[in-house]
Amino acid sequence: RLKEGRALAQDVWSIYNVANLPADCINLGQGYMNFSPPQWVTEAAQTALRDIAPNHYSHPRGRIRLREAIKNFYSPQFNRELDVESEILVTSGANEGQYSVFTAFLEHGDEVIMFEPFFDQYLPSVTFNGGKPVYVPLHPPAHSKEKSTSNDWTIDIDELRRAITPRTKMIIINTPHNPVGKVFTRAELEAIAALAEEFNLLVMSDEVYDCLVFDGKEHVRIANLPGMWDRTVTVGSAGKAFAATGWRVGWLIGPKSIIQPTLAASTRIVFCTNSPLQEAAACGLEQAKERQFFETQLKEYAERRAILTDAFDRLGLKYTLPEGSYFVLLDISDVNFPEDYPFPESVLGRGRDFKACWFIALEIGVSSIPVSEFYCDEHANIGEAFGRFAFCKDVETLKKAAERLQALK
Ligand code: GLN
Repeated sequence: RLKEGRALAQDVWSIYNVANLPADCINLGQGYMNFSPPQWVTEAAQTALRDIAPNHYSHPRGRIRLREAIKNFYSPQFNRELDVESEILVTSGANEGQYSVFTAFLEHGDEVIMFEPFFDQYLPSVTFNGGKPVYVPLHPPAHSKEKSTSNDWTIDIDELRRAITPRTKMIIINTPHNPVGKVFTRAELEAIAALAEEFNLLVMSDEVYDCLVFDGKEHVRIANLPGMWDRTVTVGSAGKAFAATGWRVGWLIGPKSIIQPTLAASTRIVFCTNSPLQEAAACGLEQAKERQFFETQLKEYAERRAILTDAFDRLGLKYTLPEGSYFVLLDISDVNFPEDYPFPESVLGRGRDFKACWFIALEIGVSSIPVSEFYCDEHANIGEAFGRFAFCKDVETLKKAAERLQALK
């Protein structure tokens, strides 16, 4: 099972890794920042490294300082007093947390519903644990539509209902969504929650971009909807929150009935998460409010988003204005390239978008991620229309990328 199929094909992050692209190519591909975490946070990491205890194994639940910080930061957002001993689990990045939930809960053949496009990691994480992914489309905006927002990517709740079978164990929600940037509305989440209740399903809500919701939109946590706390696990990430994607520090928040078995799985997979950077993440959450860190950061990201979308406006290319996350989907179906262009093997075997993004990276000097990677093989053609451009970069870099992209005219 593990040796077959898409799960072990070369992943898009390896193909479009900066190591495979010219050194002067501007990287708007894999979503990570080209700036440092805030200094007051990295200083906490340095302090932790000089201490003794934070250089050693942490409790598999996570260091108590970080669990306390998560409790204090998130309890008001979940309208409840989170219990550090049973409702919070620190994980080695959000990925490992999700993986451990699947390990803890999936029996061979259990079905896991995900909206498509989906963050690509979900697929192997489900299949490696014996689960079967089931896809429900996010319907793209009508092609004729000049300007669209991530809210124009819609769900059909009847399609979701039809996808549910007696084997369905779990639904994955991702809001704000990668790669679309969609911020699921309260009404959408209520409809999903009603089905989860009716069919007794678990919900994994990946909310790693919760600090990046623009234009005054509301970030609704499905765990907060009536009756949903007991069946929902919510995923968070220090990497996204504090510009520290390489730390691999994330967390899960949920009821004891989900956290306890997941702790057992996580303990056997990684035992514990790296300790010193848990101290730094704790410092970040402890001081964020008083420093108005997330408010300031959100404004900075809104400016970054505008630089990219202005560039696409000037080009007259269609794109999806994201209401959350740090990605813009650009319609690249009209970007032409010579069929005999010297594409590498890894790109040749894939969809048109893999070629278009490669061509743009090499000829225009800006890299992006082909969106068919976020679709199952059967539906990959839908994703071939798009390239995903990340704007988690400094203003200067984005302006330079914006200029280069004008050559697409
Ligand atoms: N979440 C990041 C992105 O979507 C990185 C993904 C990864 O490297 N696996 O770009």
